[in-house]
Amino acid sequence: MAAIVIDGKAVAAKVKEDAKARAAGLREGGIIPCLAVLLVGEDPASLSYVSAKEQALAEAGMASKDIRLPREITEEELIARIAGFNADPAIHGILVQLPLPGHIREDAVIAAIDPAKDVDGFHPVSAGNLLLGRPGFIPCTPAGVVFLLRELGIPTAGAHAVVVGRSNIVGRPLANLLTRRDINATVTICHTGTVDLARHVREADILIAAAGKPALITAEMVREGAAVIDVGVNRVADPQAKKGYRLRGDVDFGPVAEKAAYITPVPGGVGPLTIAMLLQNVVDACRRQTSVCP
Ligand code: NAD
Repeated sequence: MAAIVIDGKAVAAKVKEDAKARAAGLREGGIIPCLAVLLVGEDPASLSYVSAKEQALAEAGMASKDIRLPREITEEELIARIAGFNADPAIHGILVQLPLPGHIREDAVIAAIDPAKDVDGFHPVSAGNLLLGRPGFIPCTPAGVVFLLRELGIPTAGAHAVVVGRSNIVGRPLANLLTRRDINATVTICHTGTVDLARHVREADILIAAAGKPALITAEMVREGAAVIDVGVNRVADPQAKKGYRLRGDVDFGPVAEKAAYITPVPGGVGPLTIAMLLQNVVDACRRQTSVCP
């Protein structure tokens, strides 16, 4: 079998159009959805993620406030900046680009964001709402993966989904979402403590790789006809490439594509969906804060 290669960009374009239309509705009422984007330091990957998000916001008719902060900033100073945006009614969402330098506690910074403006969905209140099945912000990458499955009509009810990775921003929220009644998958979470990863992965109807390890998932590990969603984005040295590296997912793409029914490429798979979901969360945040919707 040769897999259908999922065009994440095309699916994301639909989501972006929808966010753009909803933002236009708000603009007619004189409201411009605005996201404060805080970047500490000059990590090249973070810089490129931040500029991609800001560009997508602009294309969707939304605003962003670009805050670049020196690597040496203290945790207190960063939290004070966040407090300012929490209190500013013209700012509807706050995004702190991770990772932060080692001297700043990410937990403390995330907890300082007003949950009403937590468009990344990383705040403990958002995580709790997700766990309890209550309305709230859902982290963008897990939301994007679930949207992809739905959009492609990949059956999830009763399917066995295996999530490789247990981070708070991808693996855990995604595993939780997949168990929601409207998705109804049976979920296994694998992590660094898992014994015999291959045995679990082989059982997956839907495999989601979010480990951050290039080509961790090989063809021998994948069940014939599985849907394979590759969240991993890894920079792999490549002297032939202009930048000296190329991006690889967590899945050994070519051989796995021979066996799977569906597969997402890296880049061009999950990544564009993550940004599209962020746009939706910013519009939602704005609508709630401006009483356009409860
Ligand atoms: P993380 O490092 O916080 O978590 C990785 C998880 O994978 C851990 O829970 C760990 O237990 C598990 N893991 C690592 N090696 C493993 C192994 N050999 N076997 C089993 N489990 C293993 O990373 P993260 O923030 O969750 O991101 C995961 C990957 O997804 C990274 O490559 C990241 O760049 C990428 N990512 C992509 C997007 C996107 O939009 N496409 C968004 C977020 C993260």
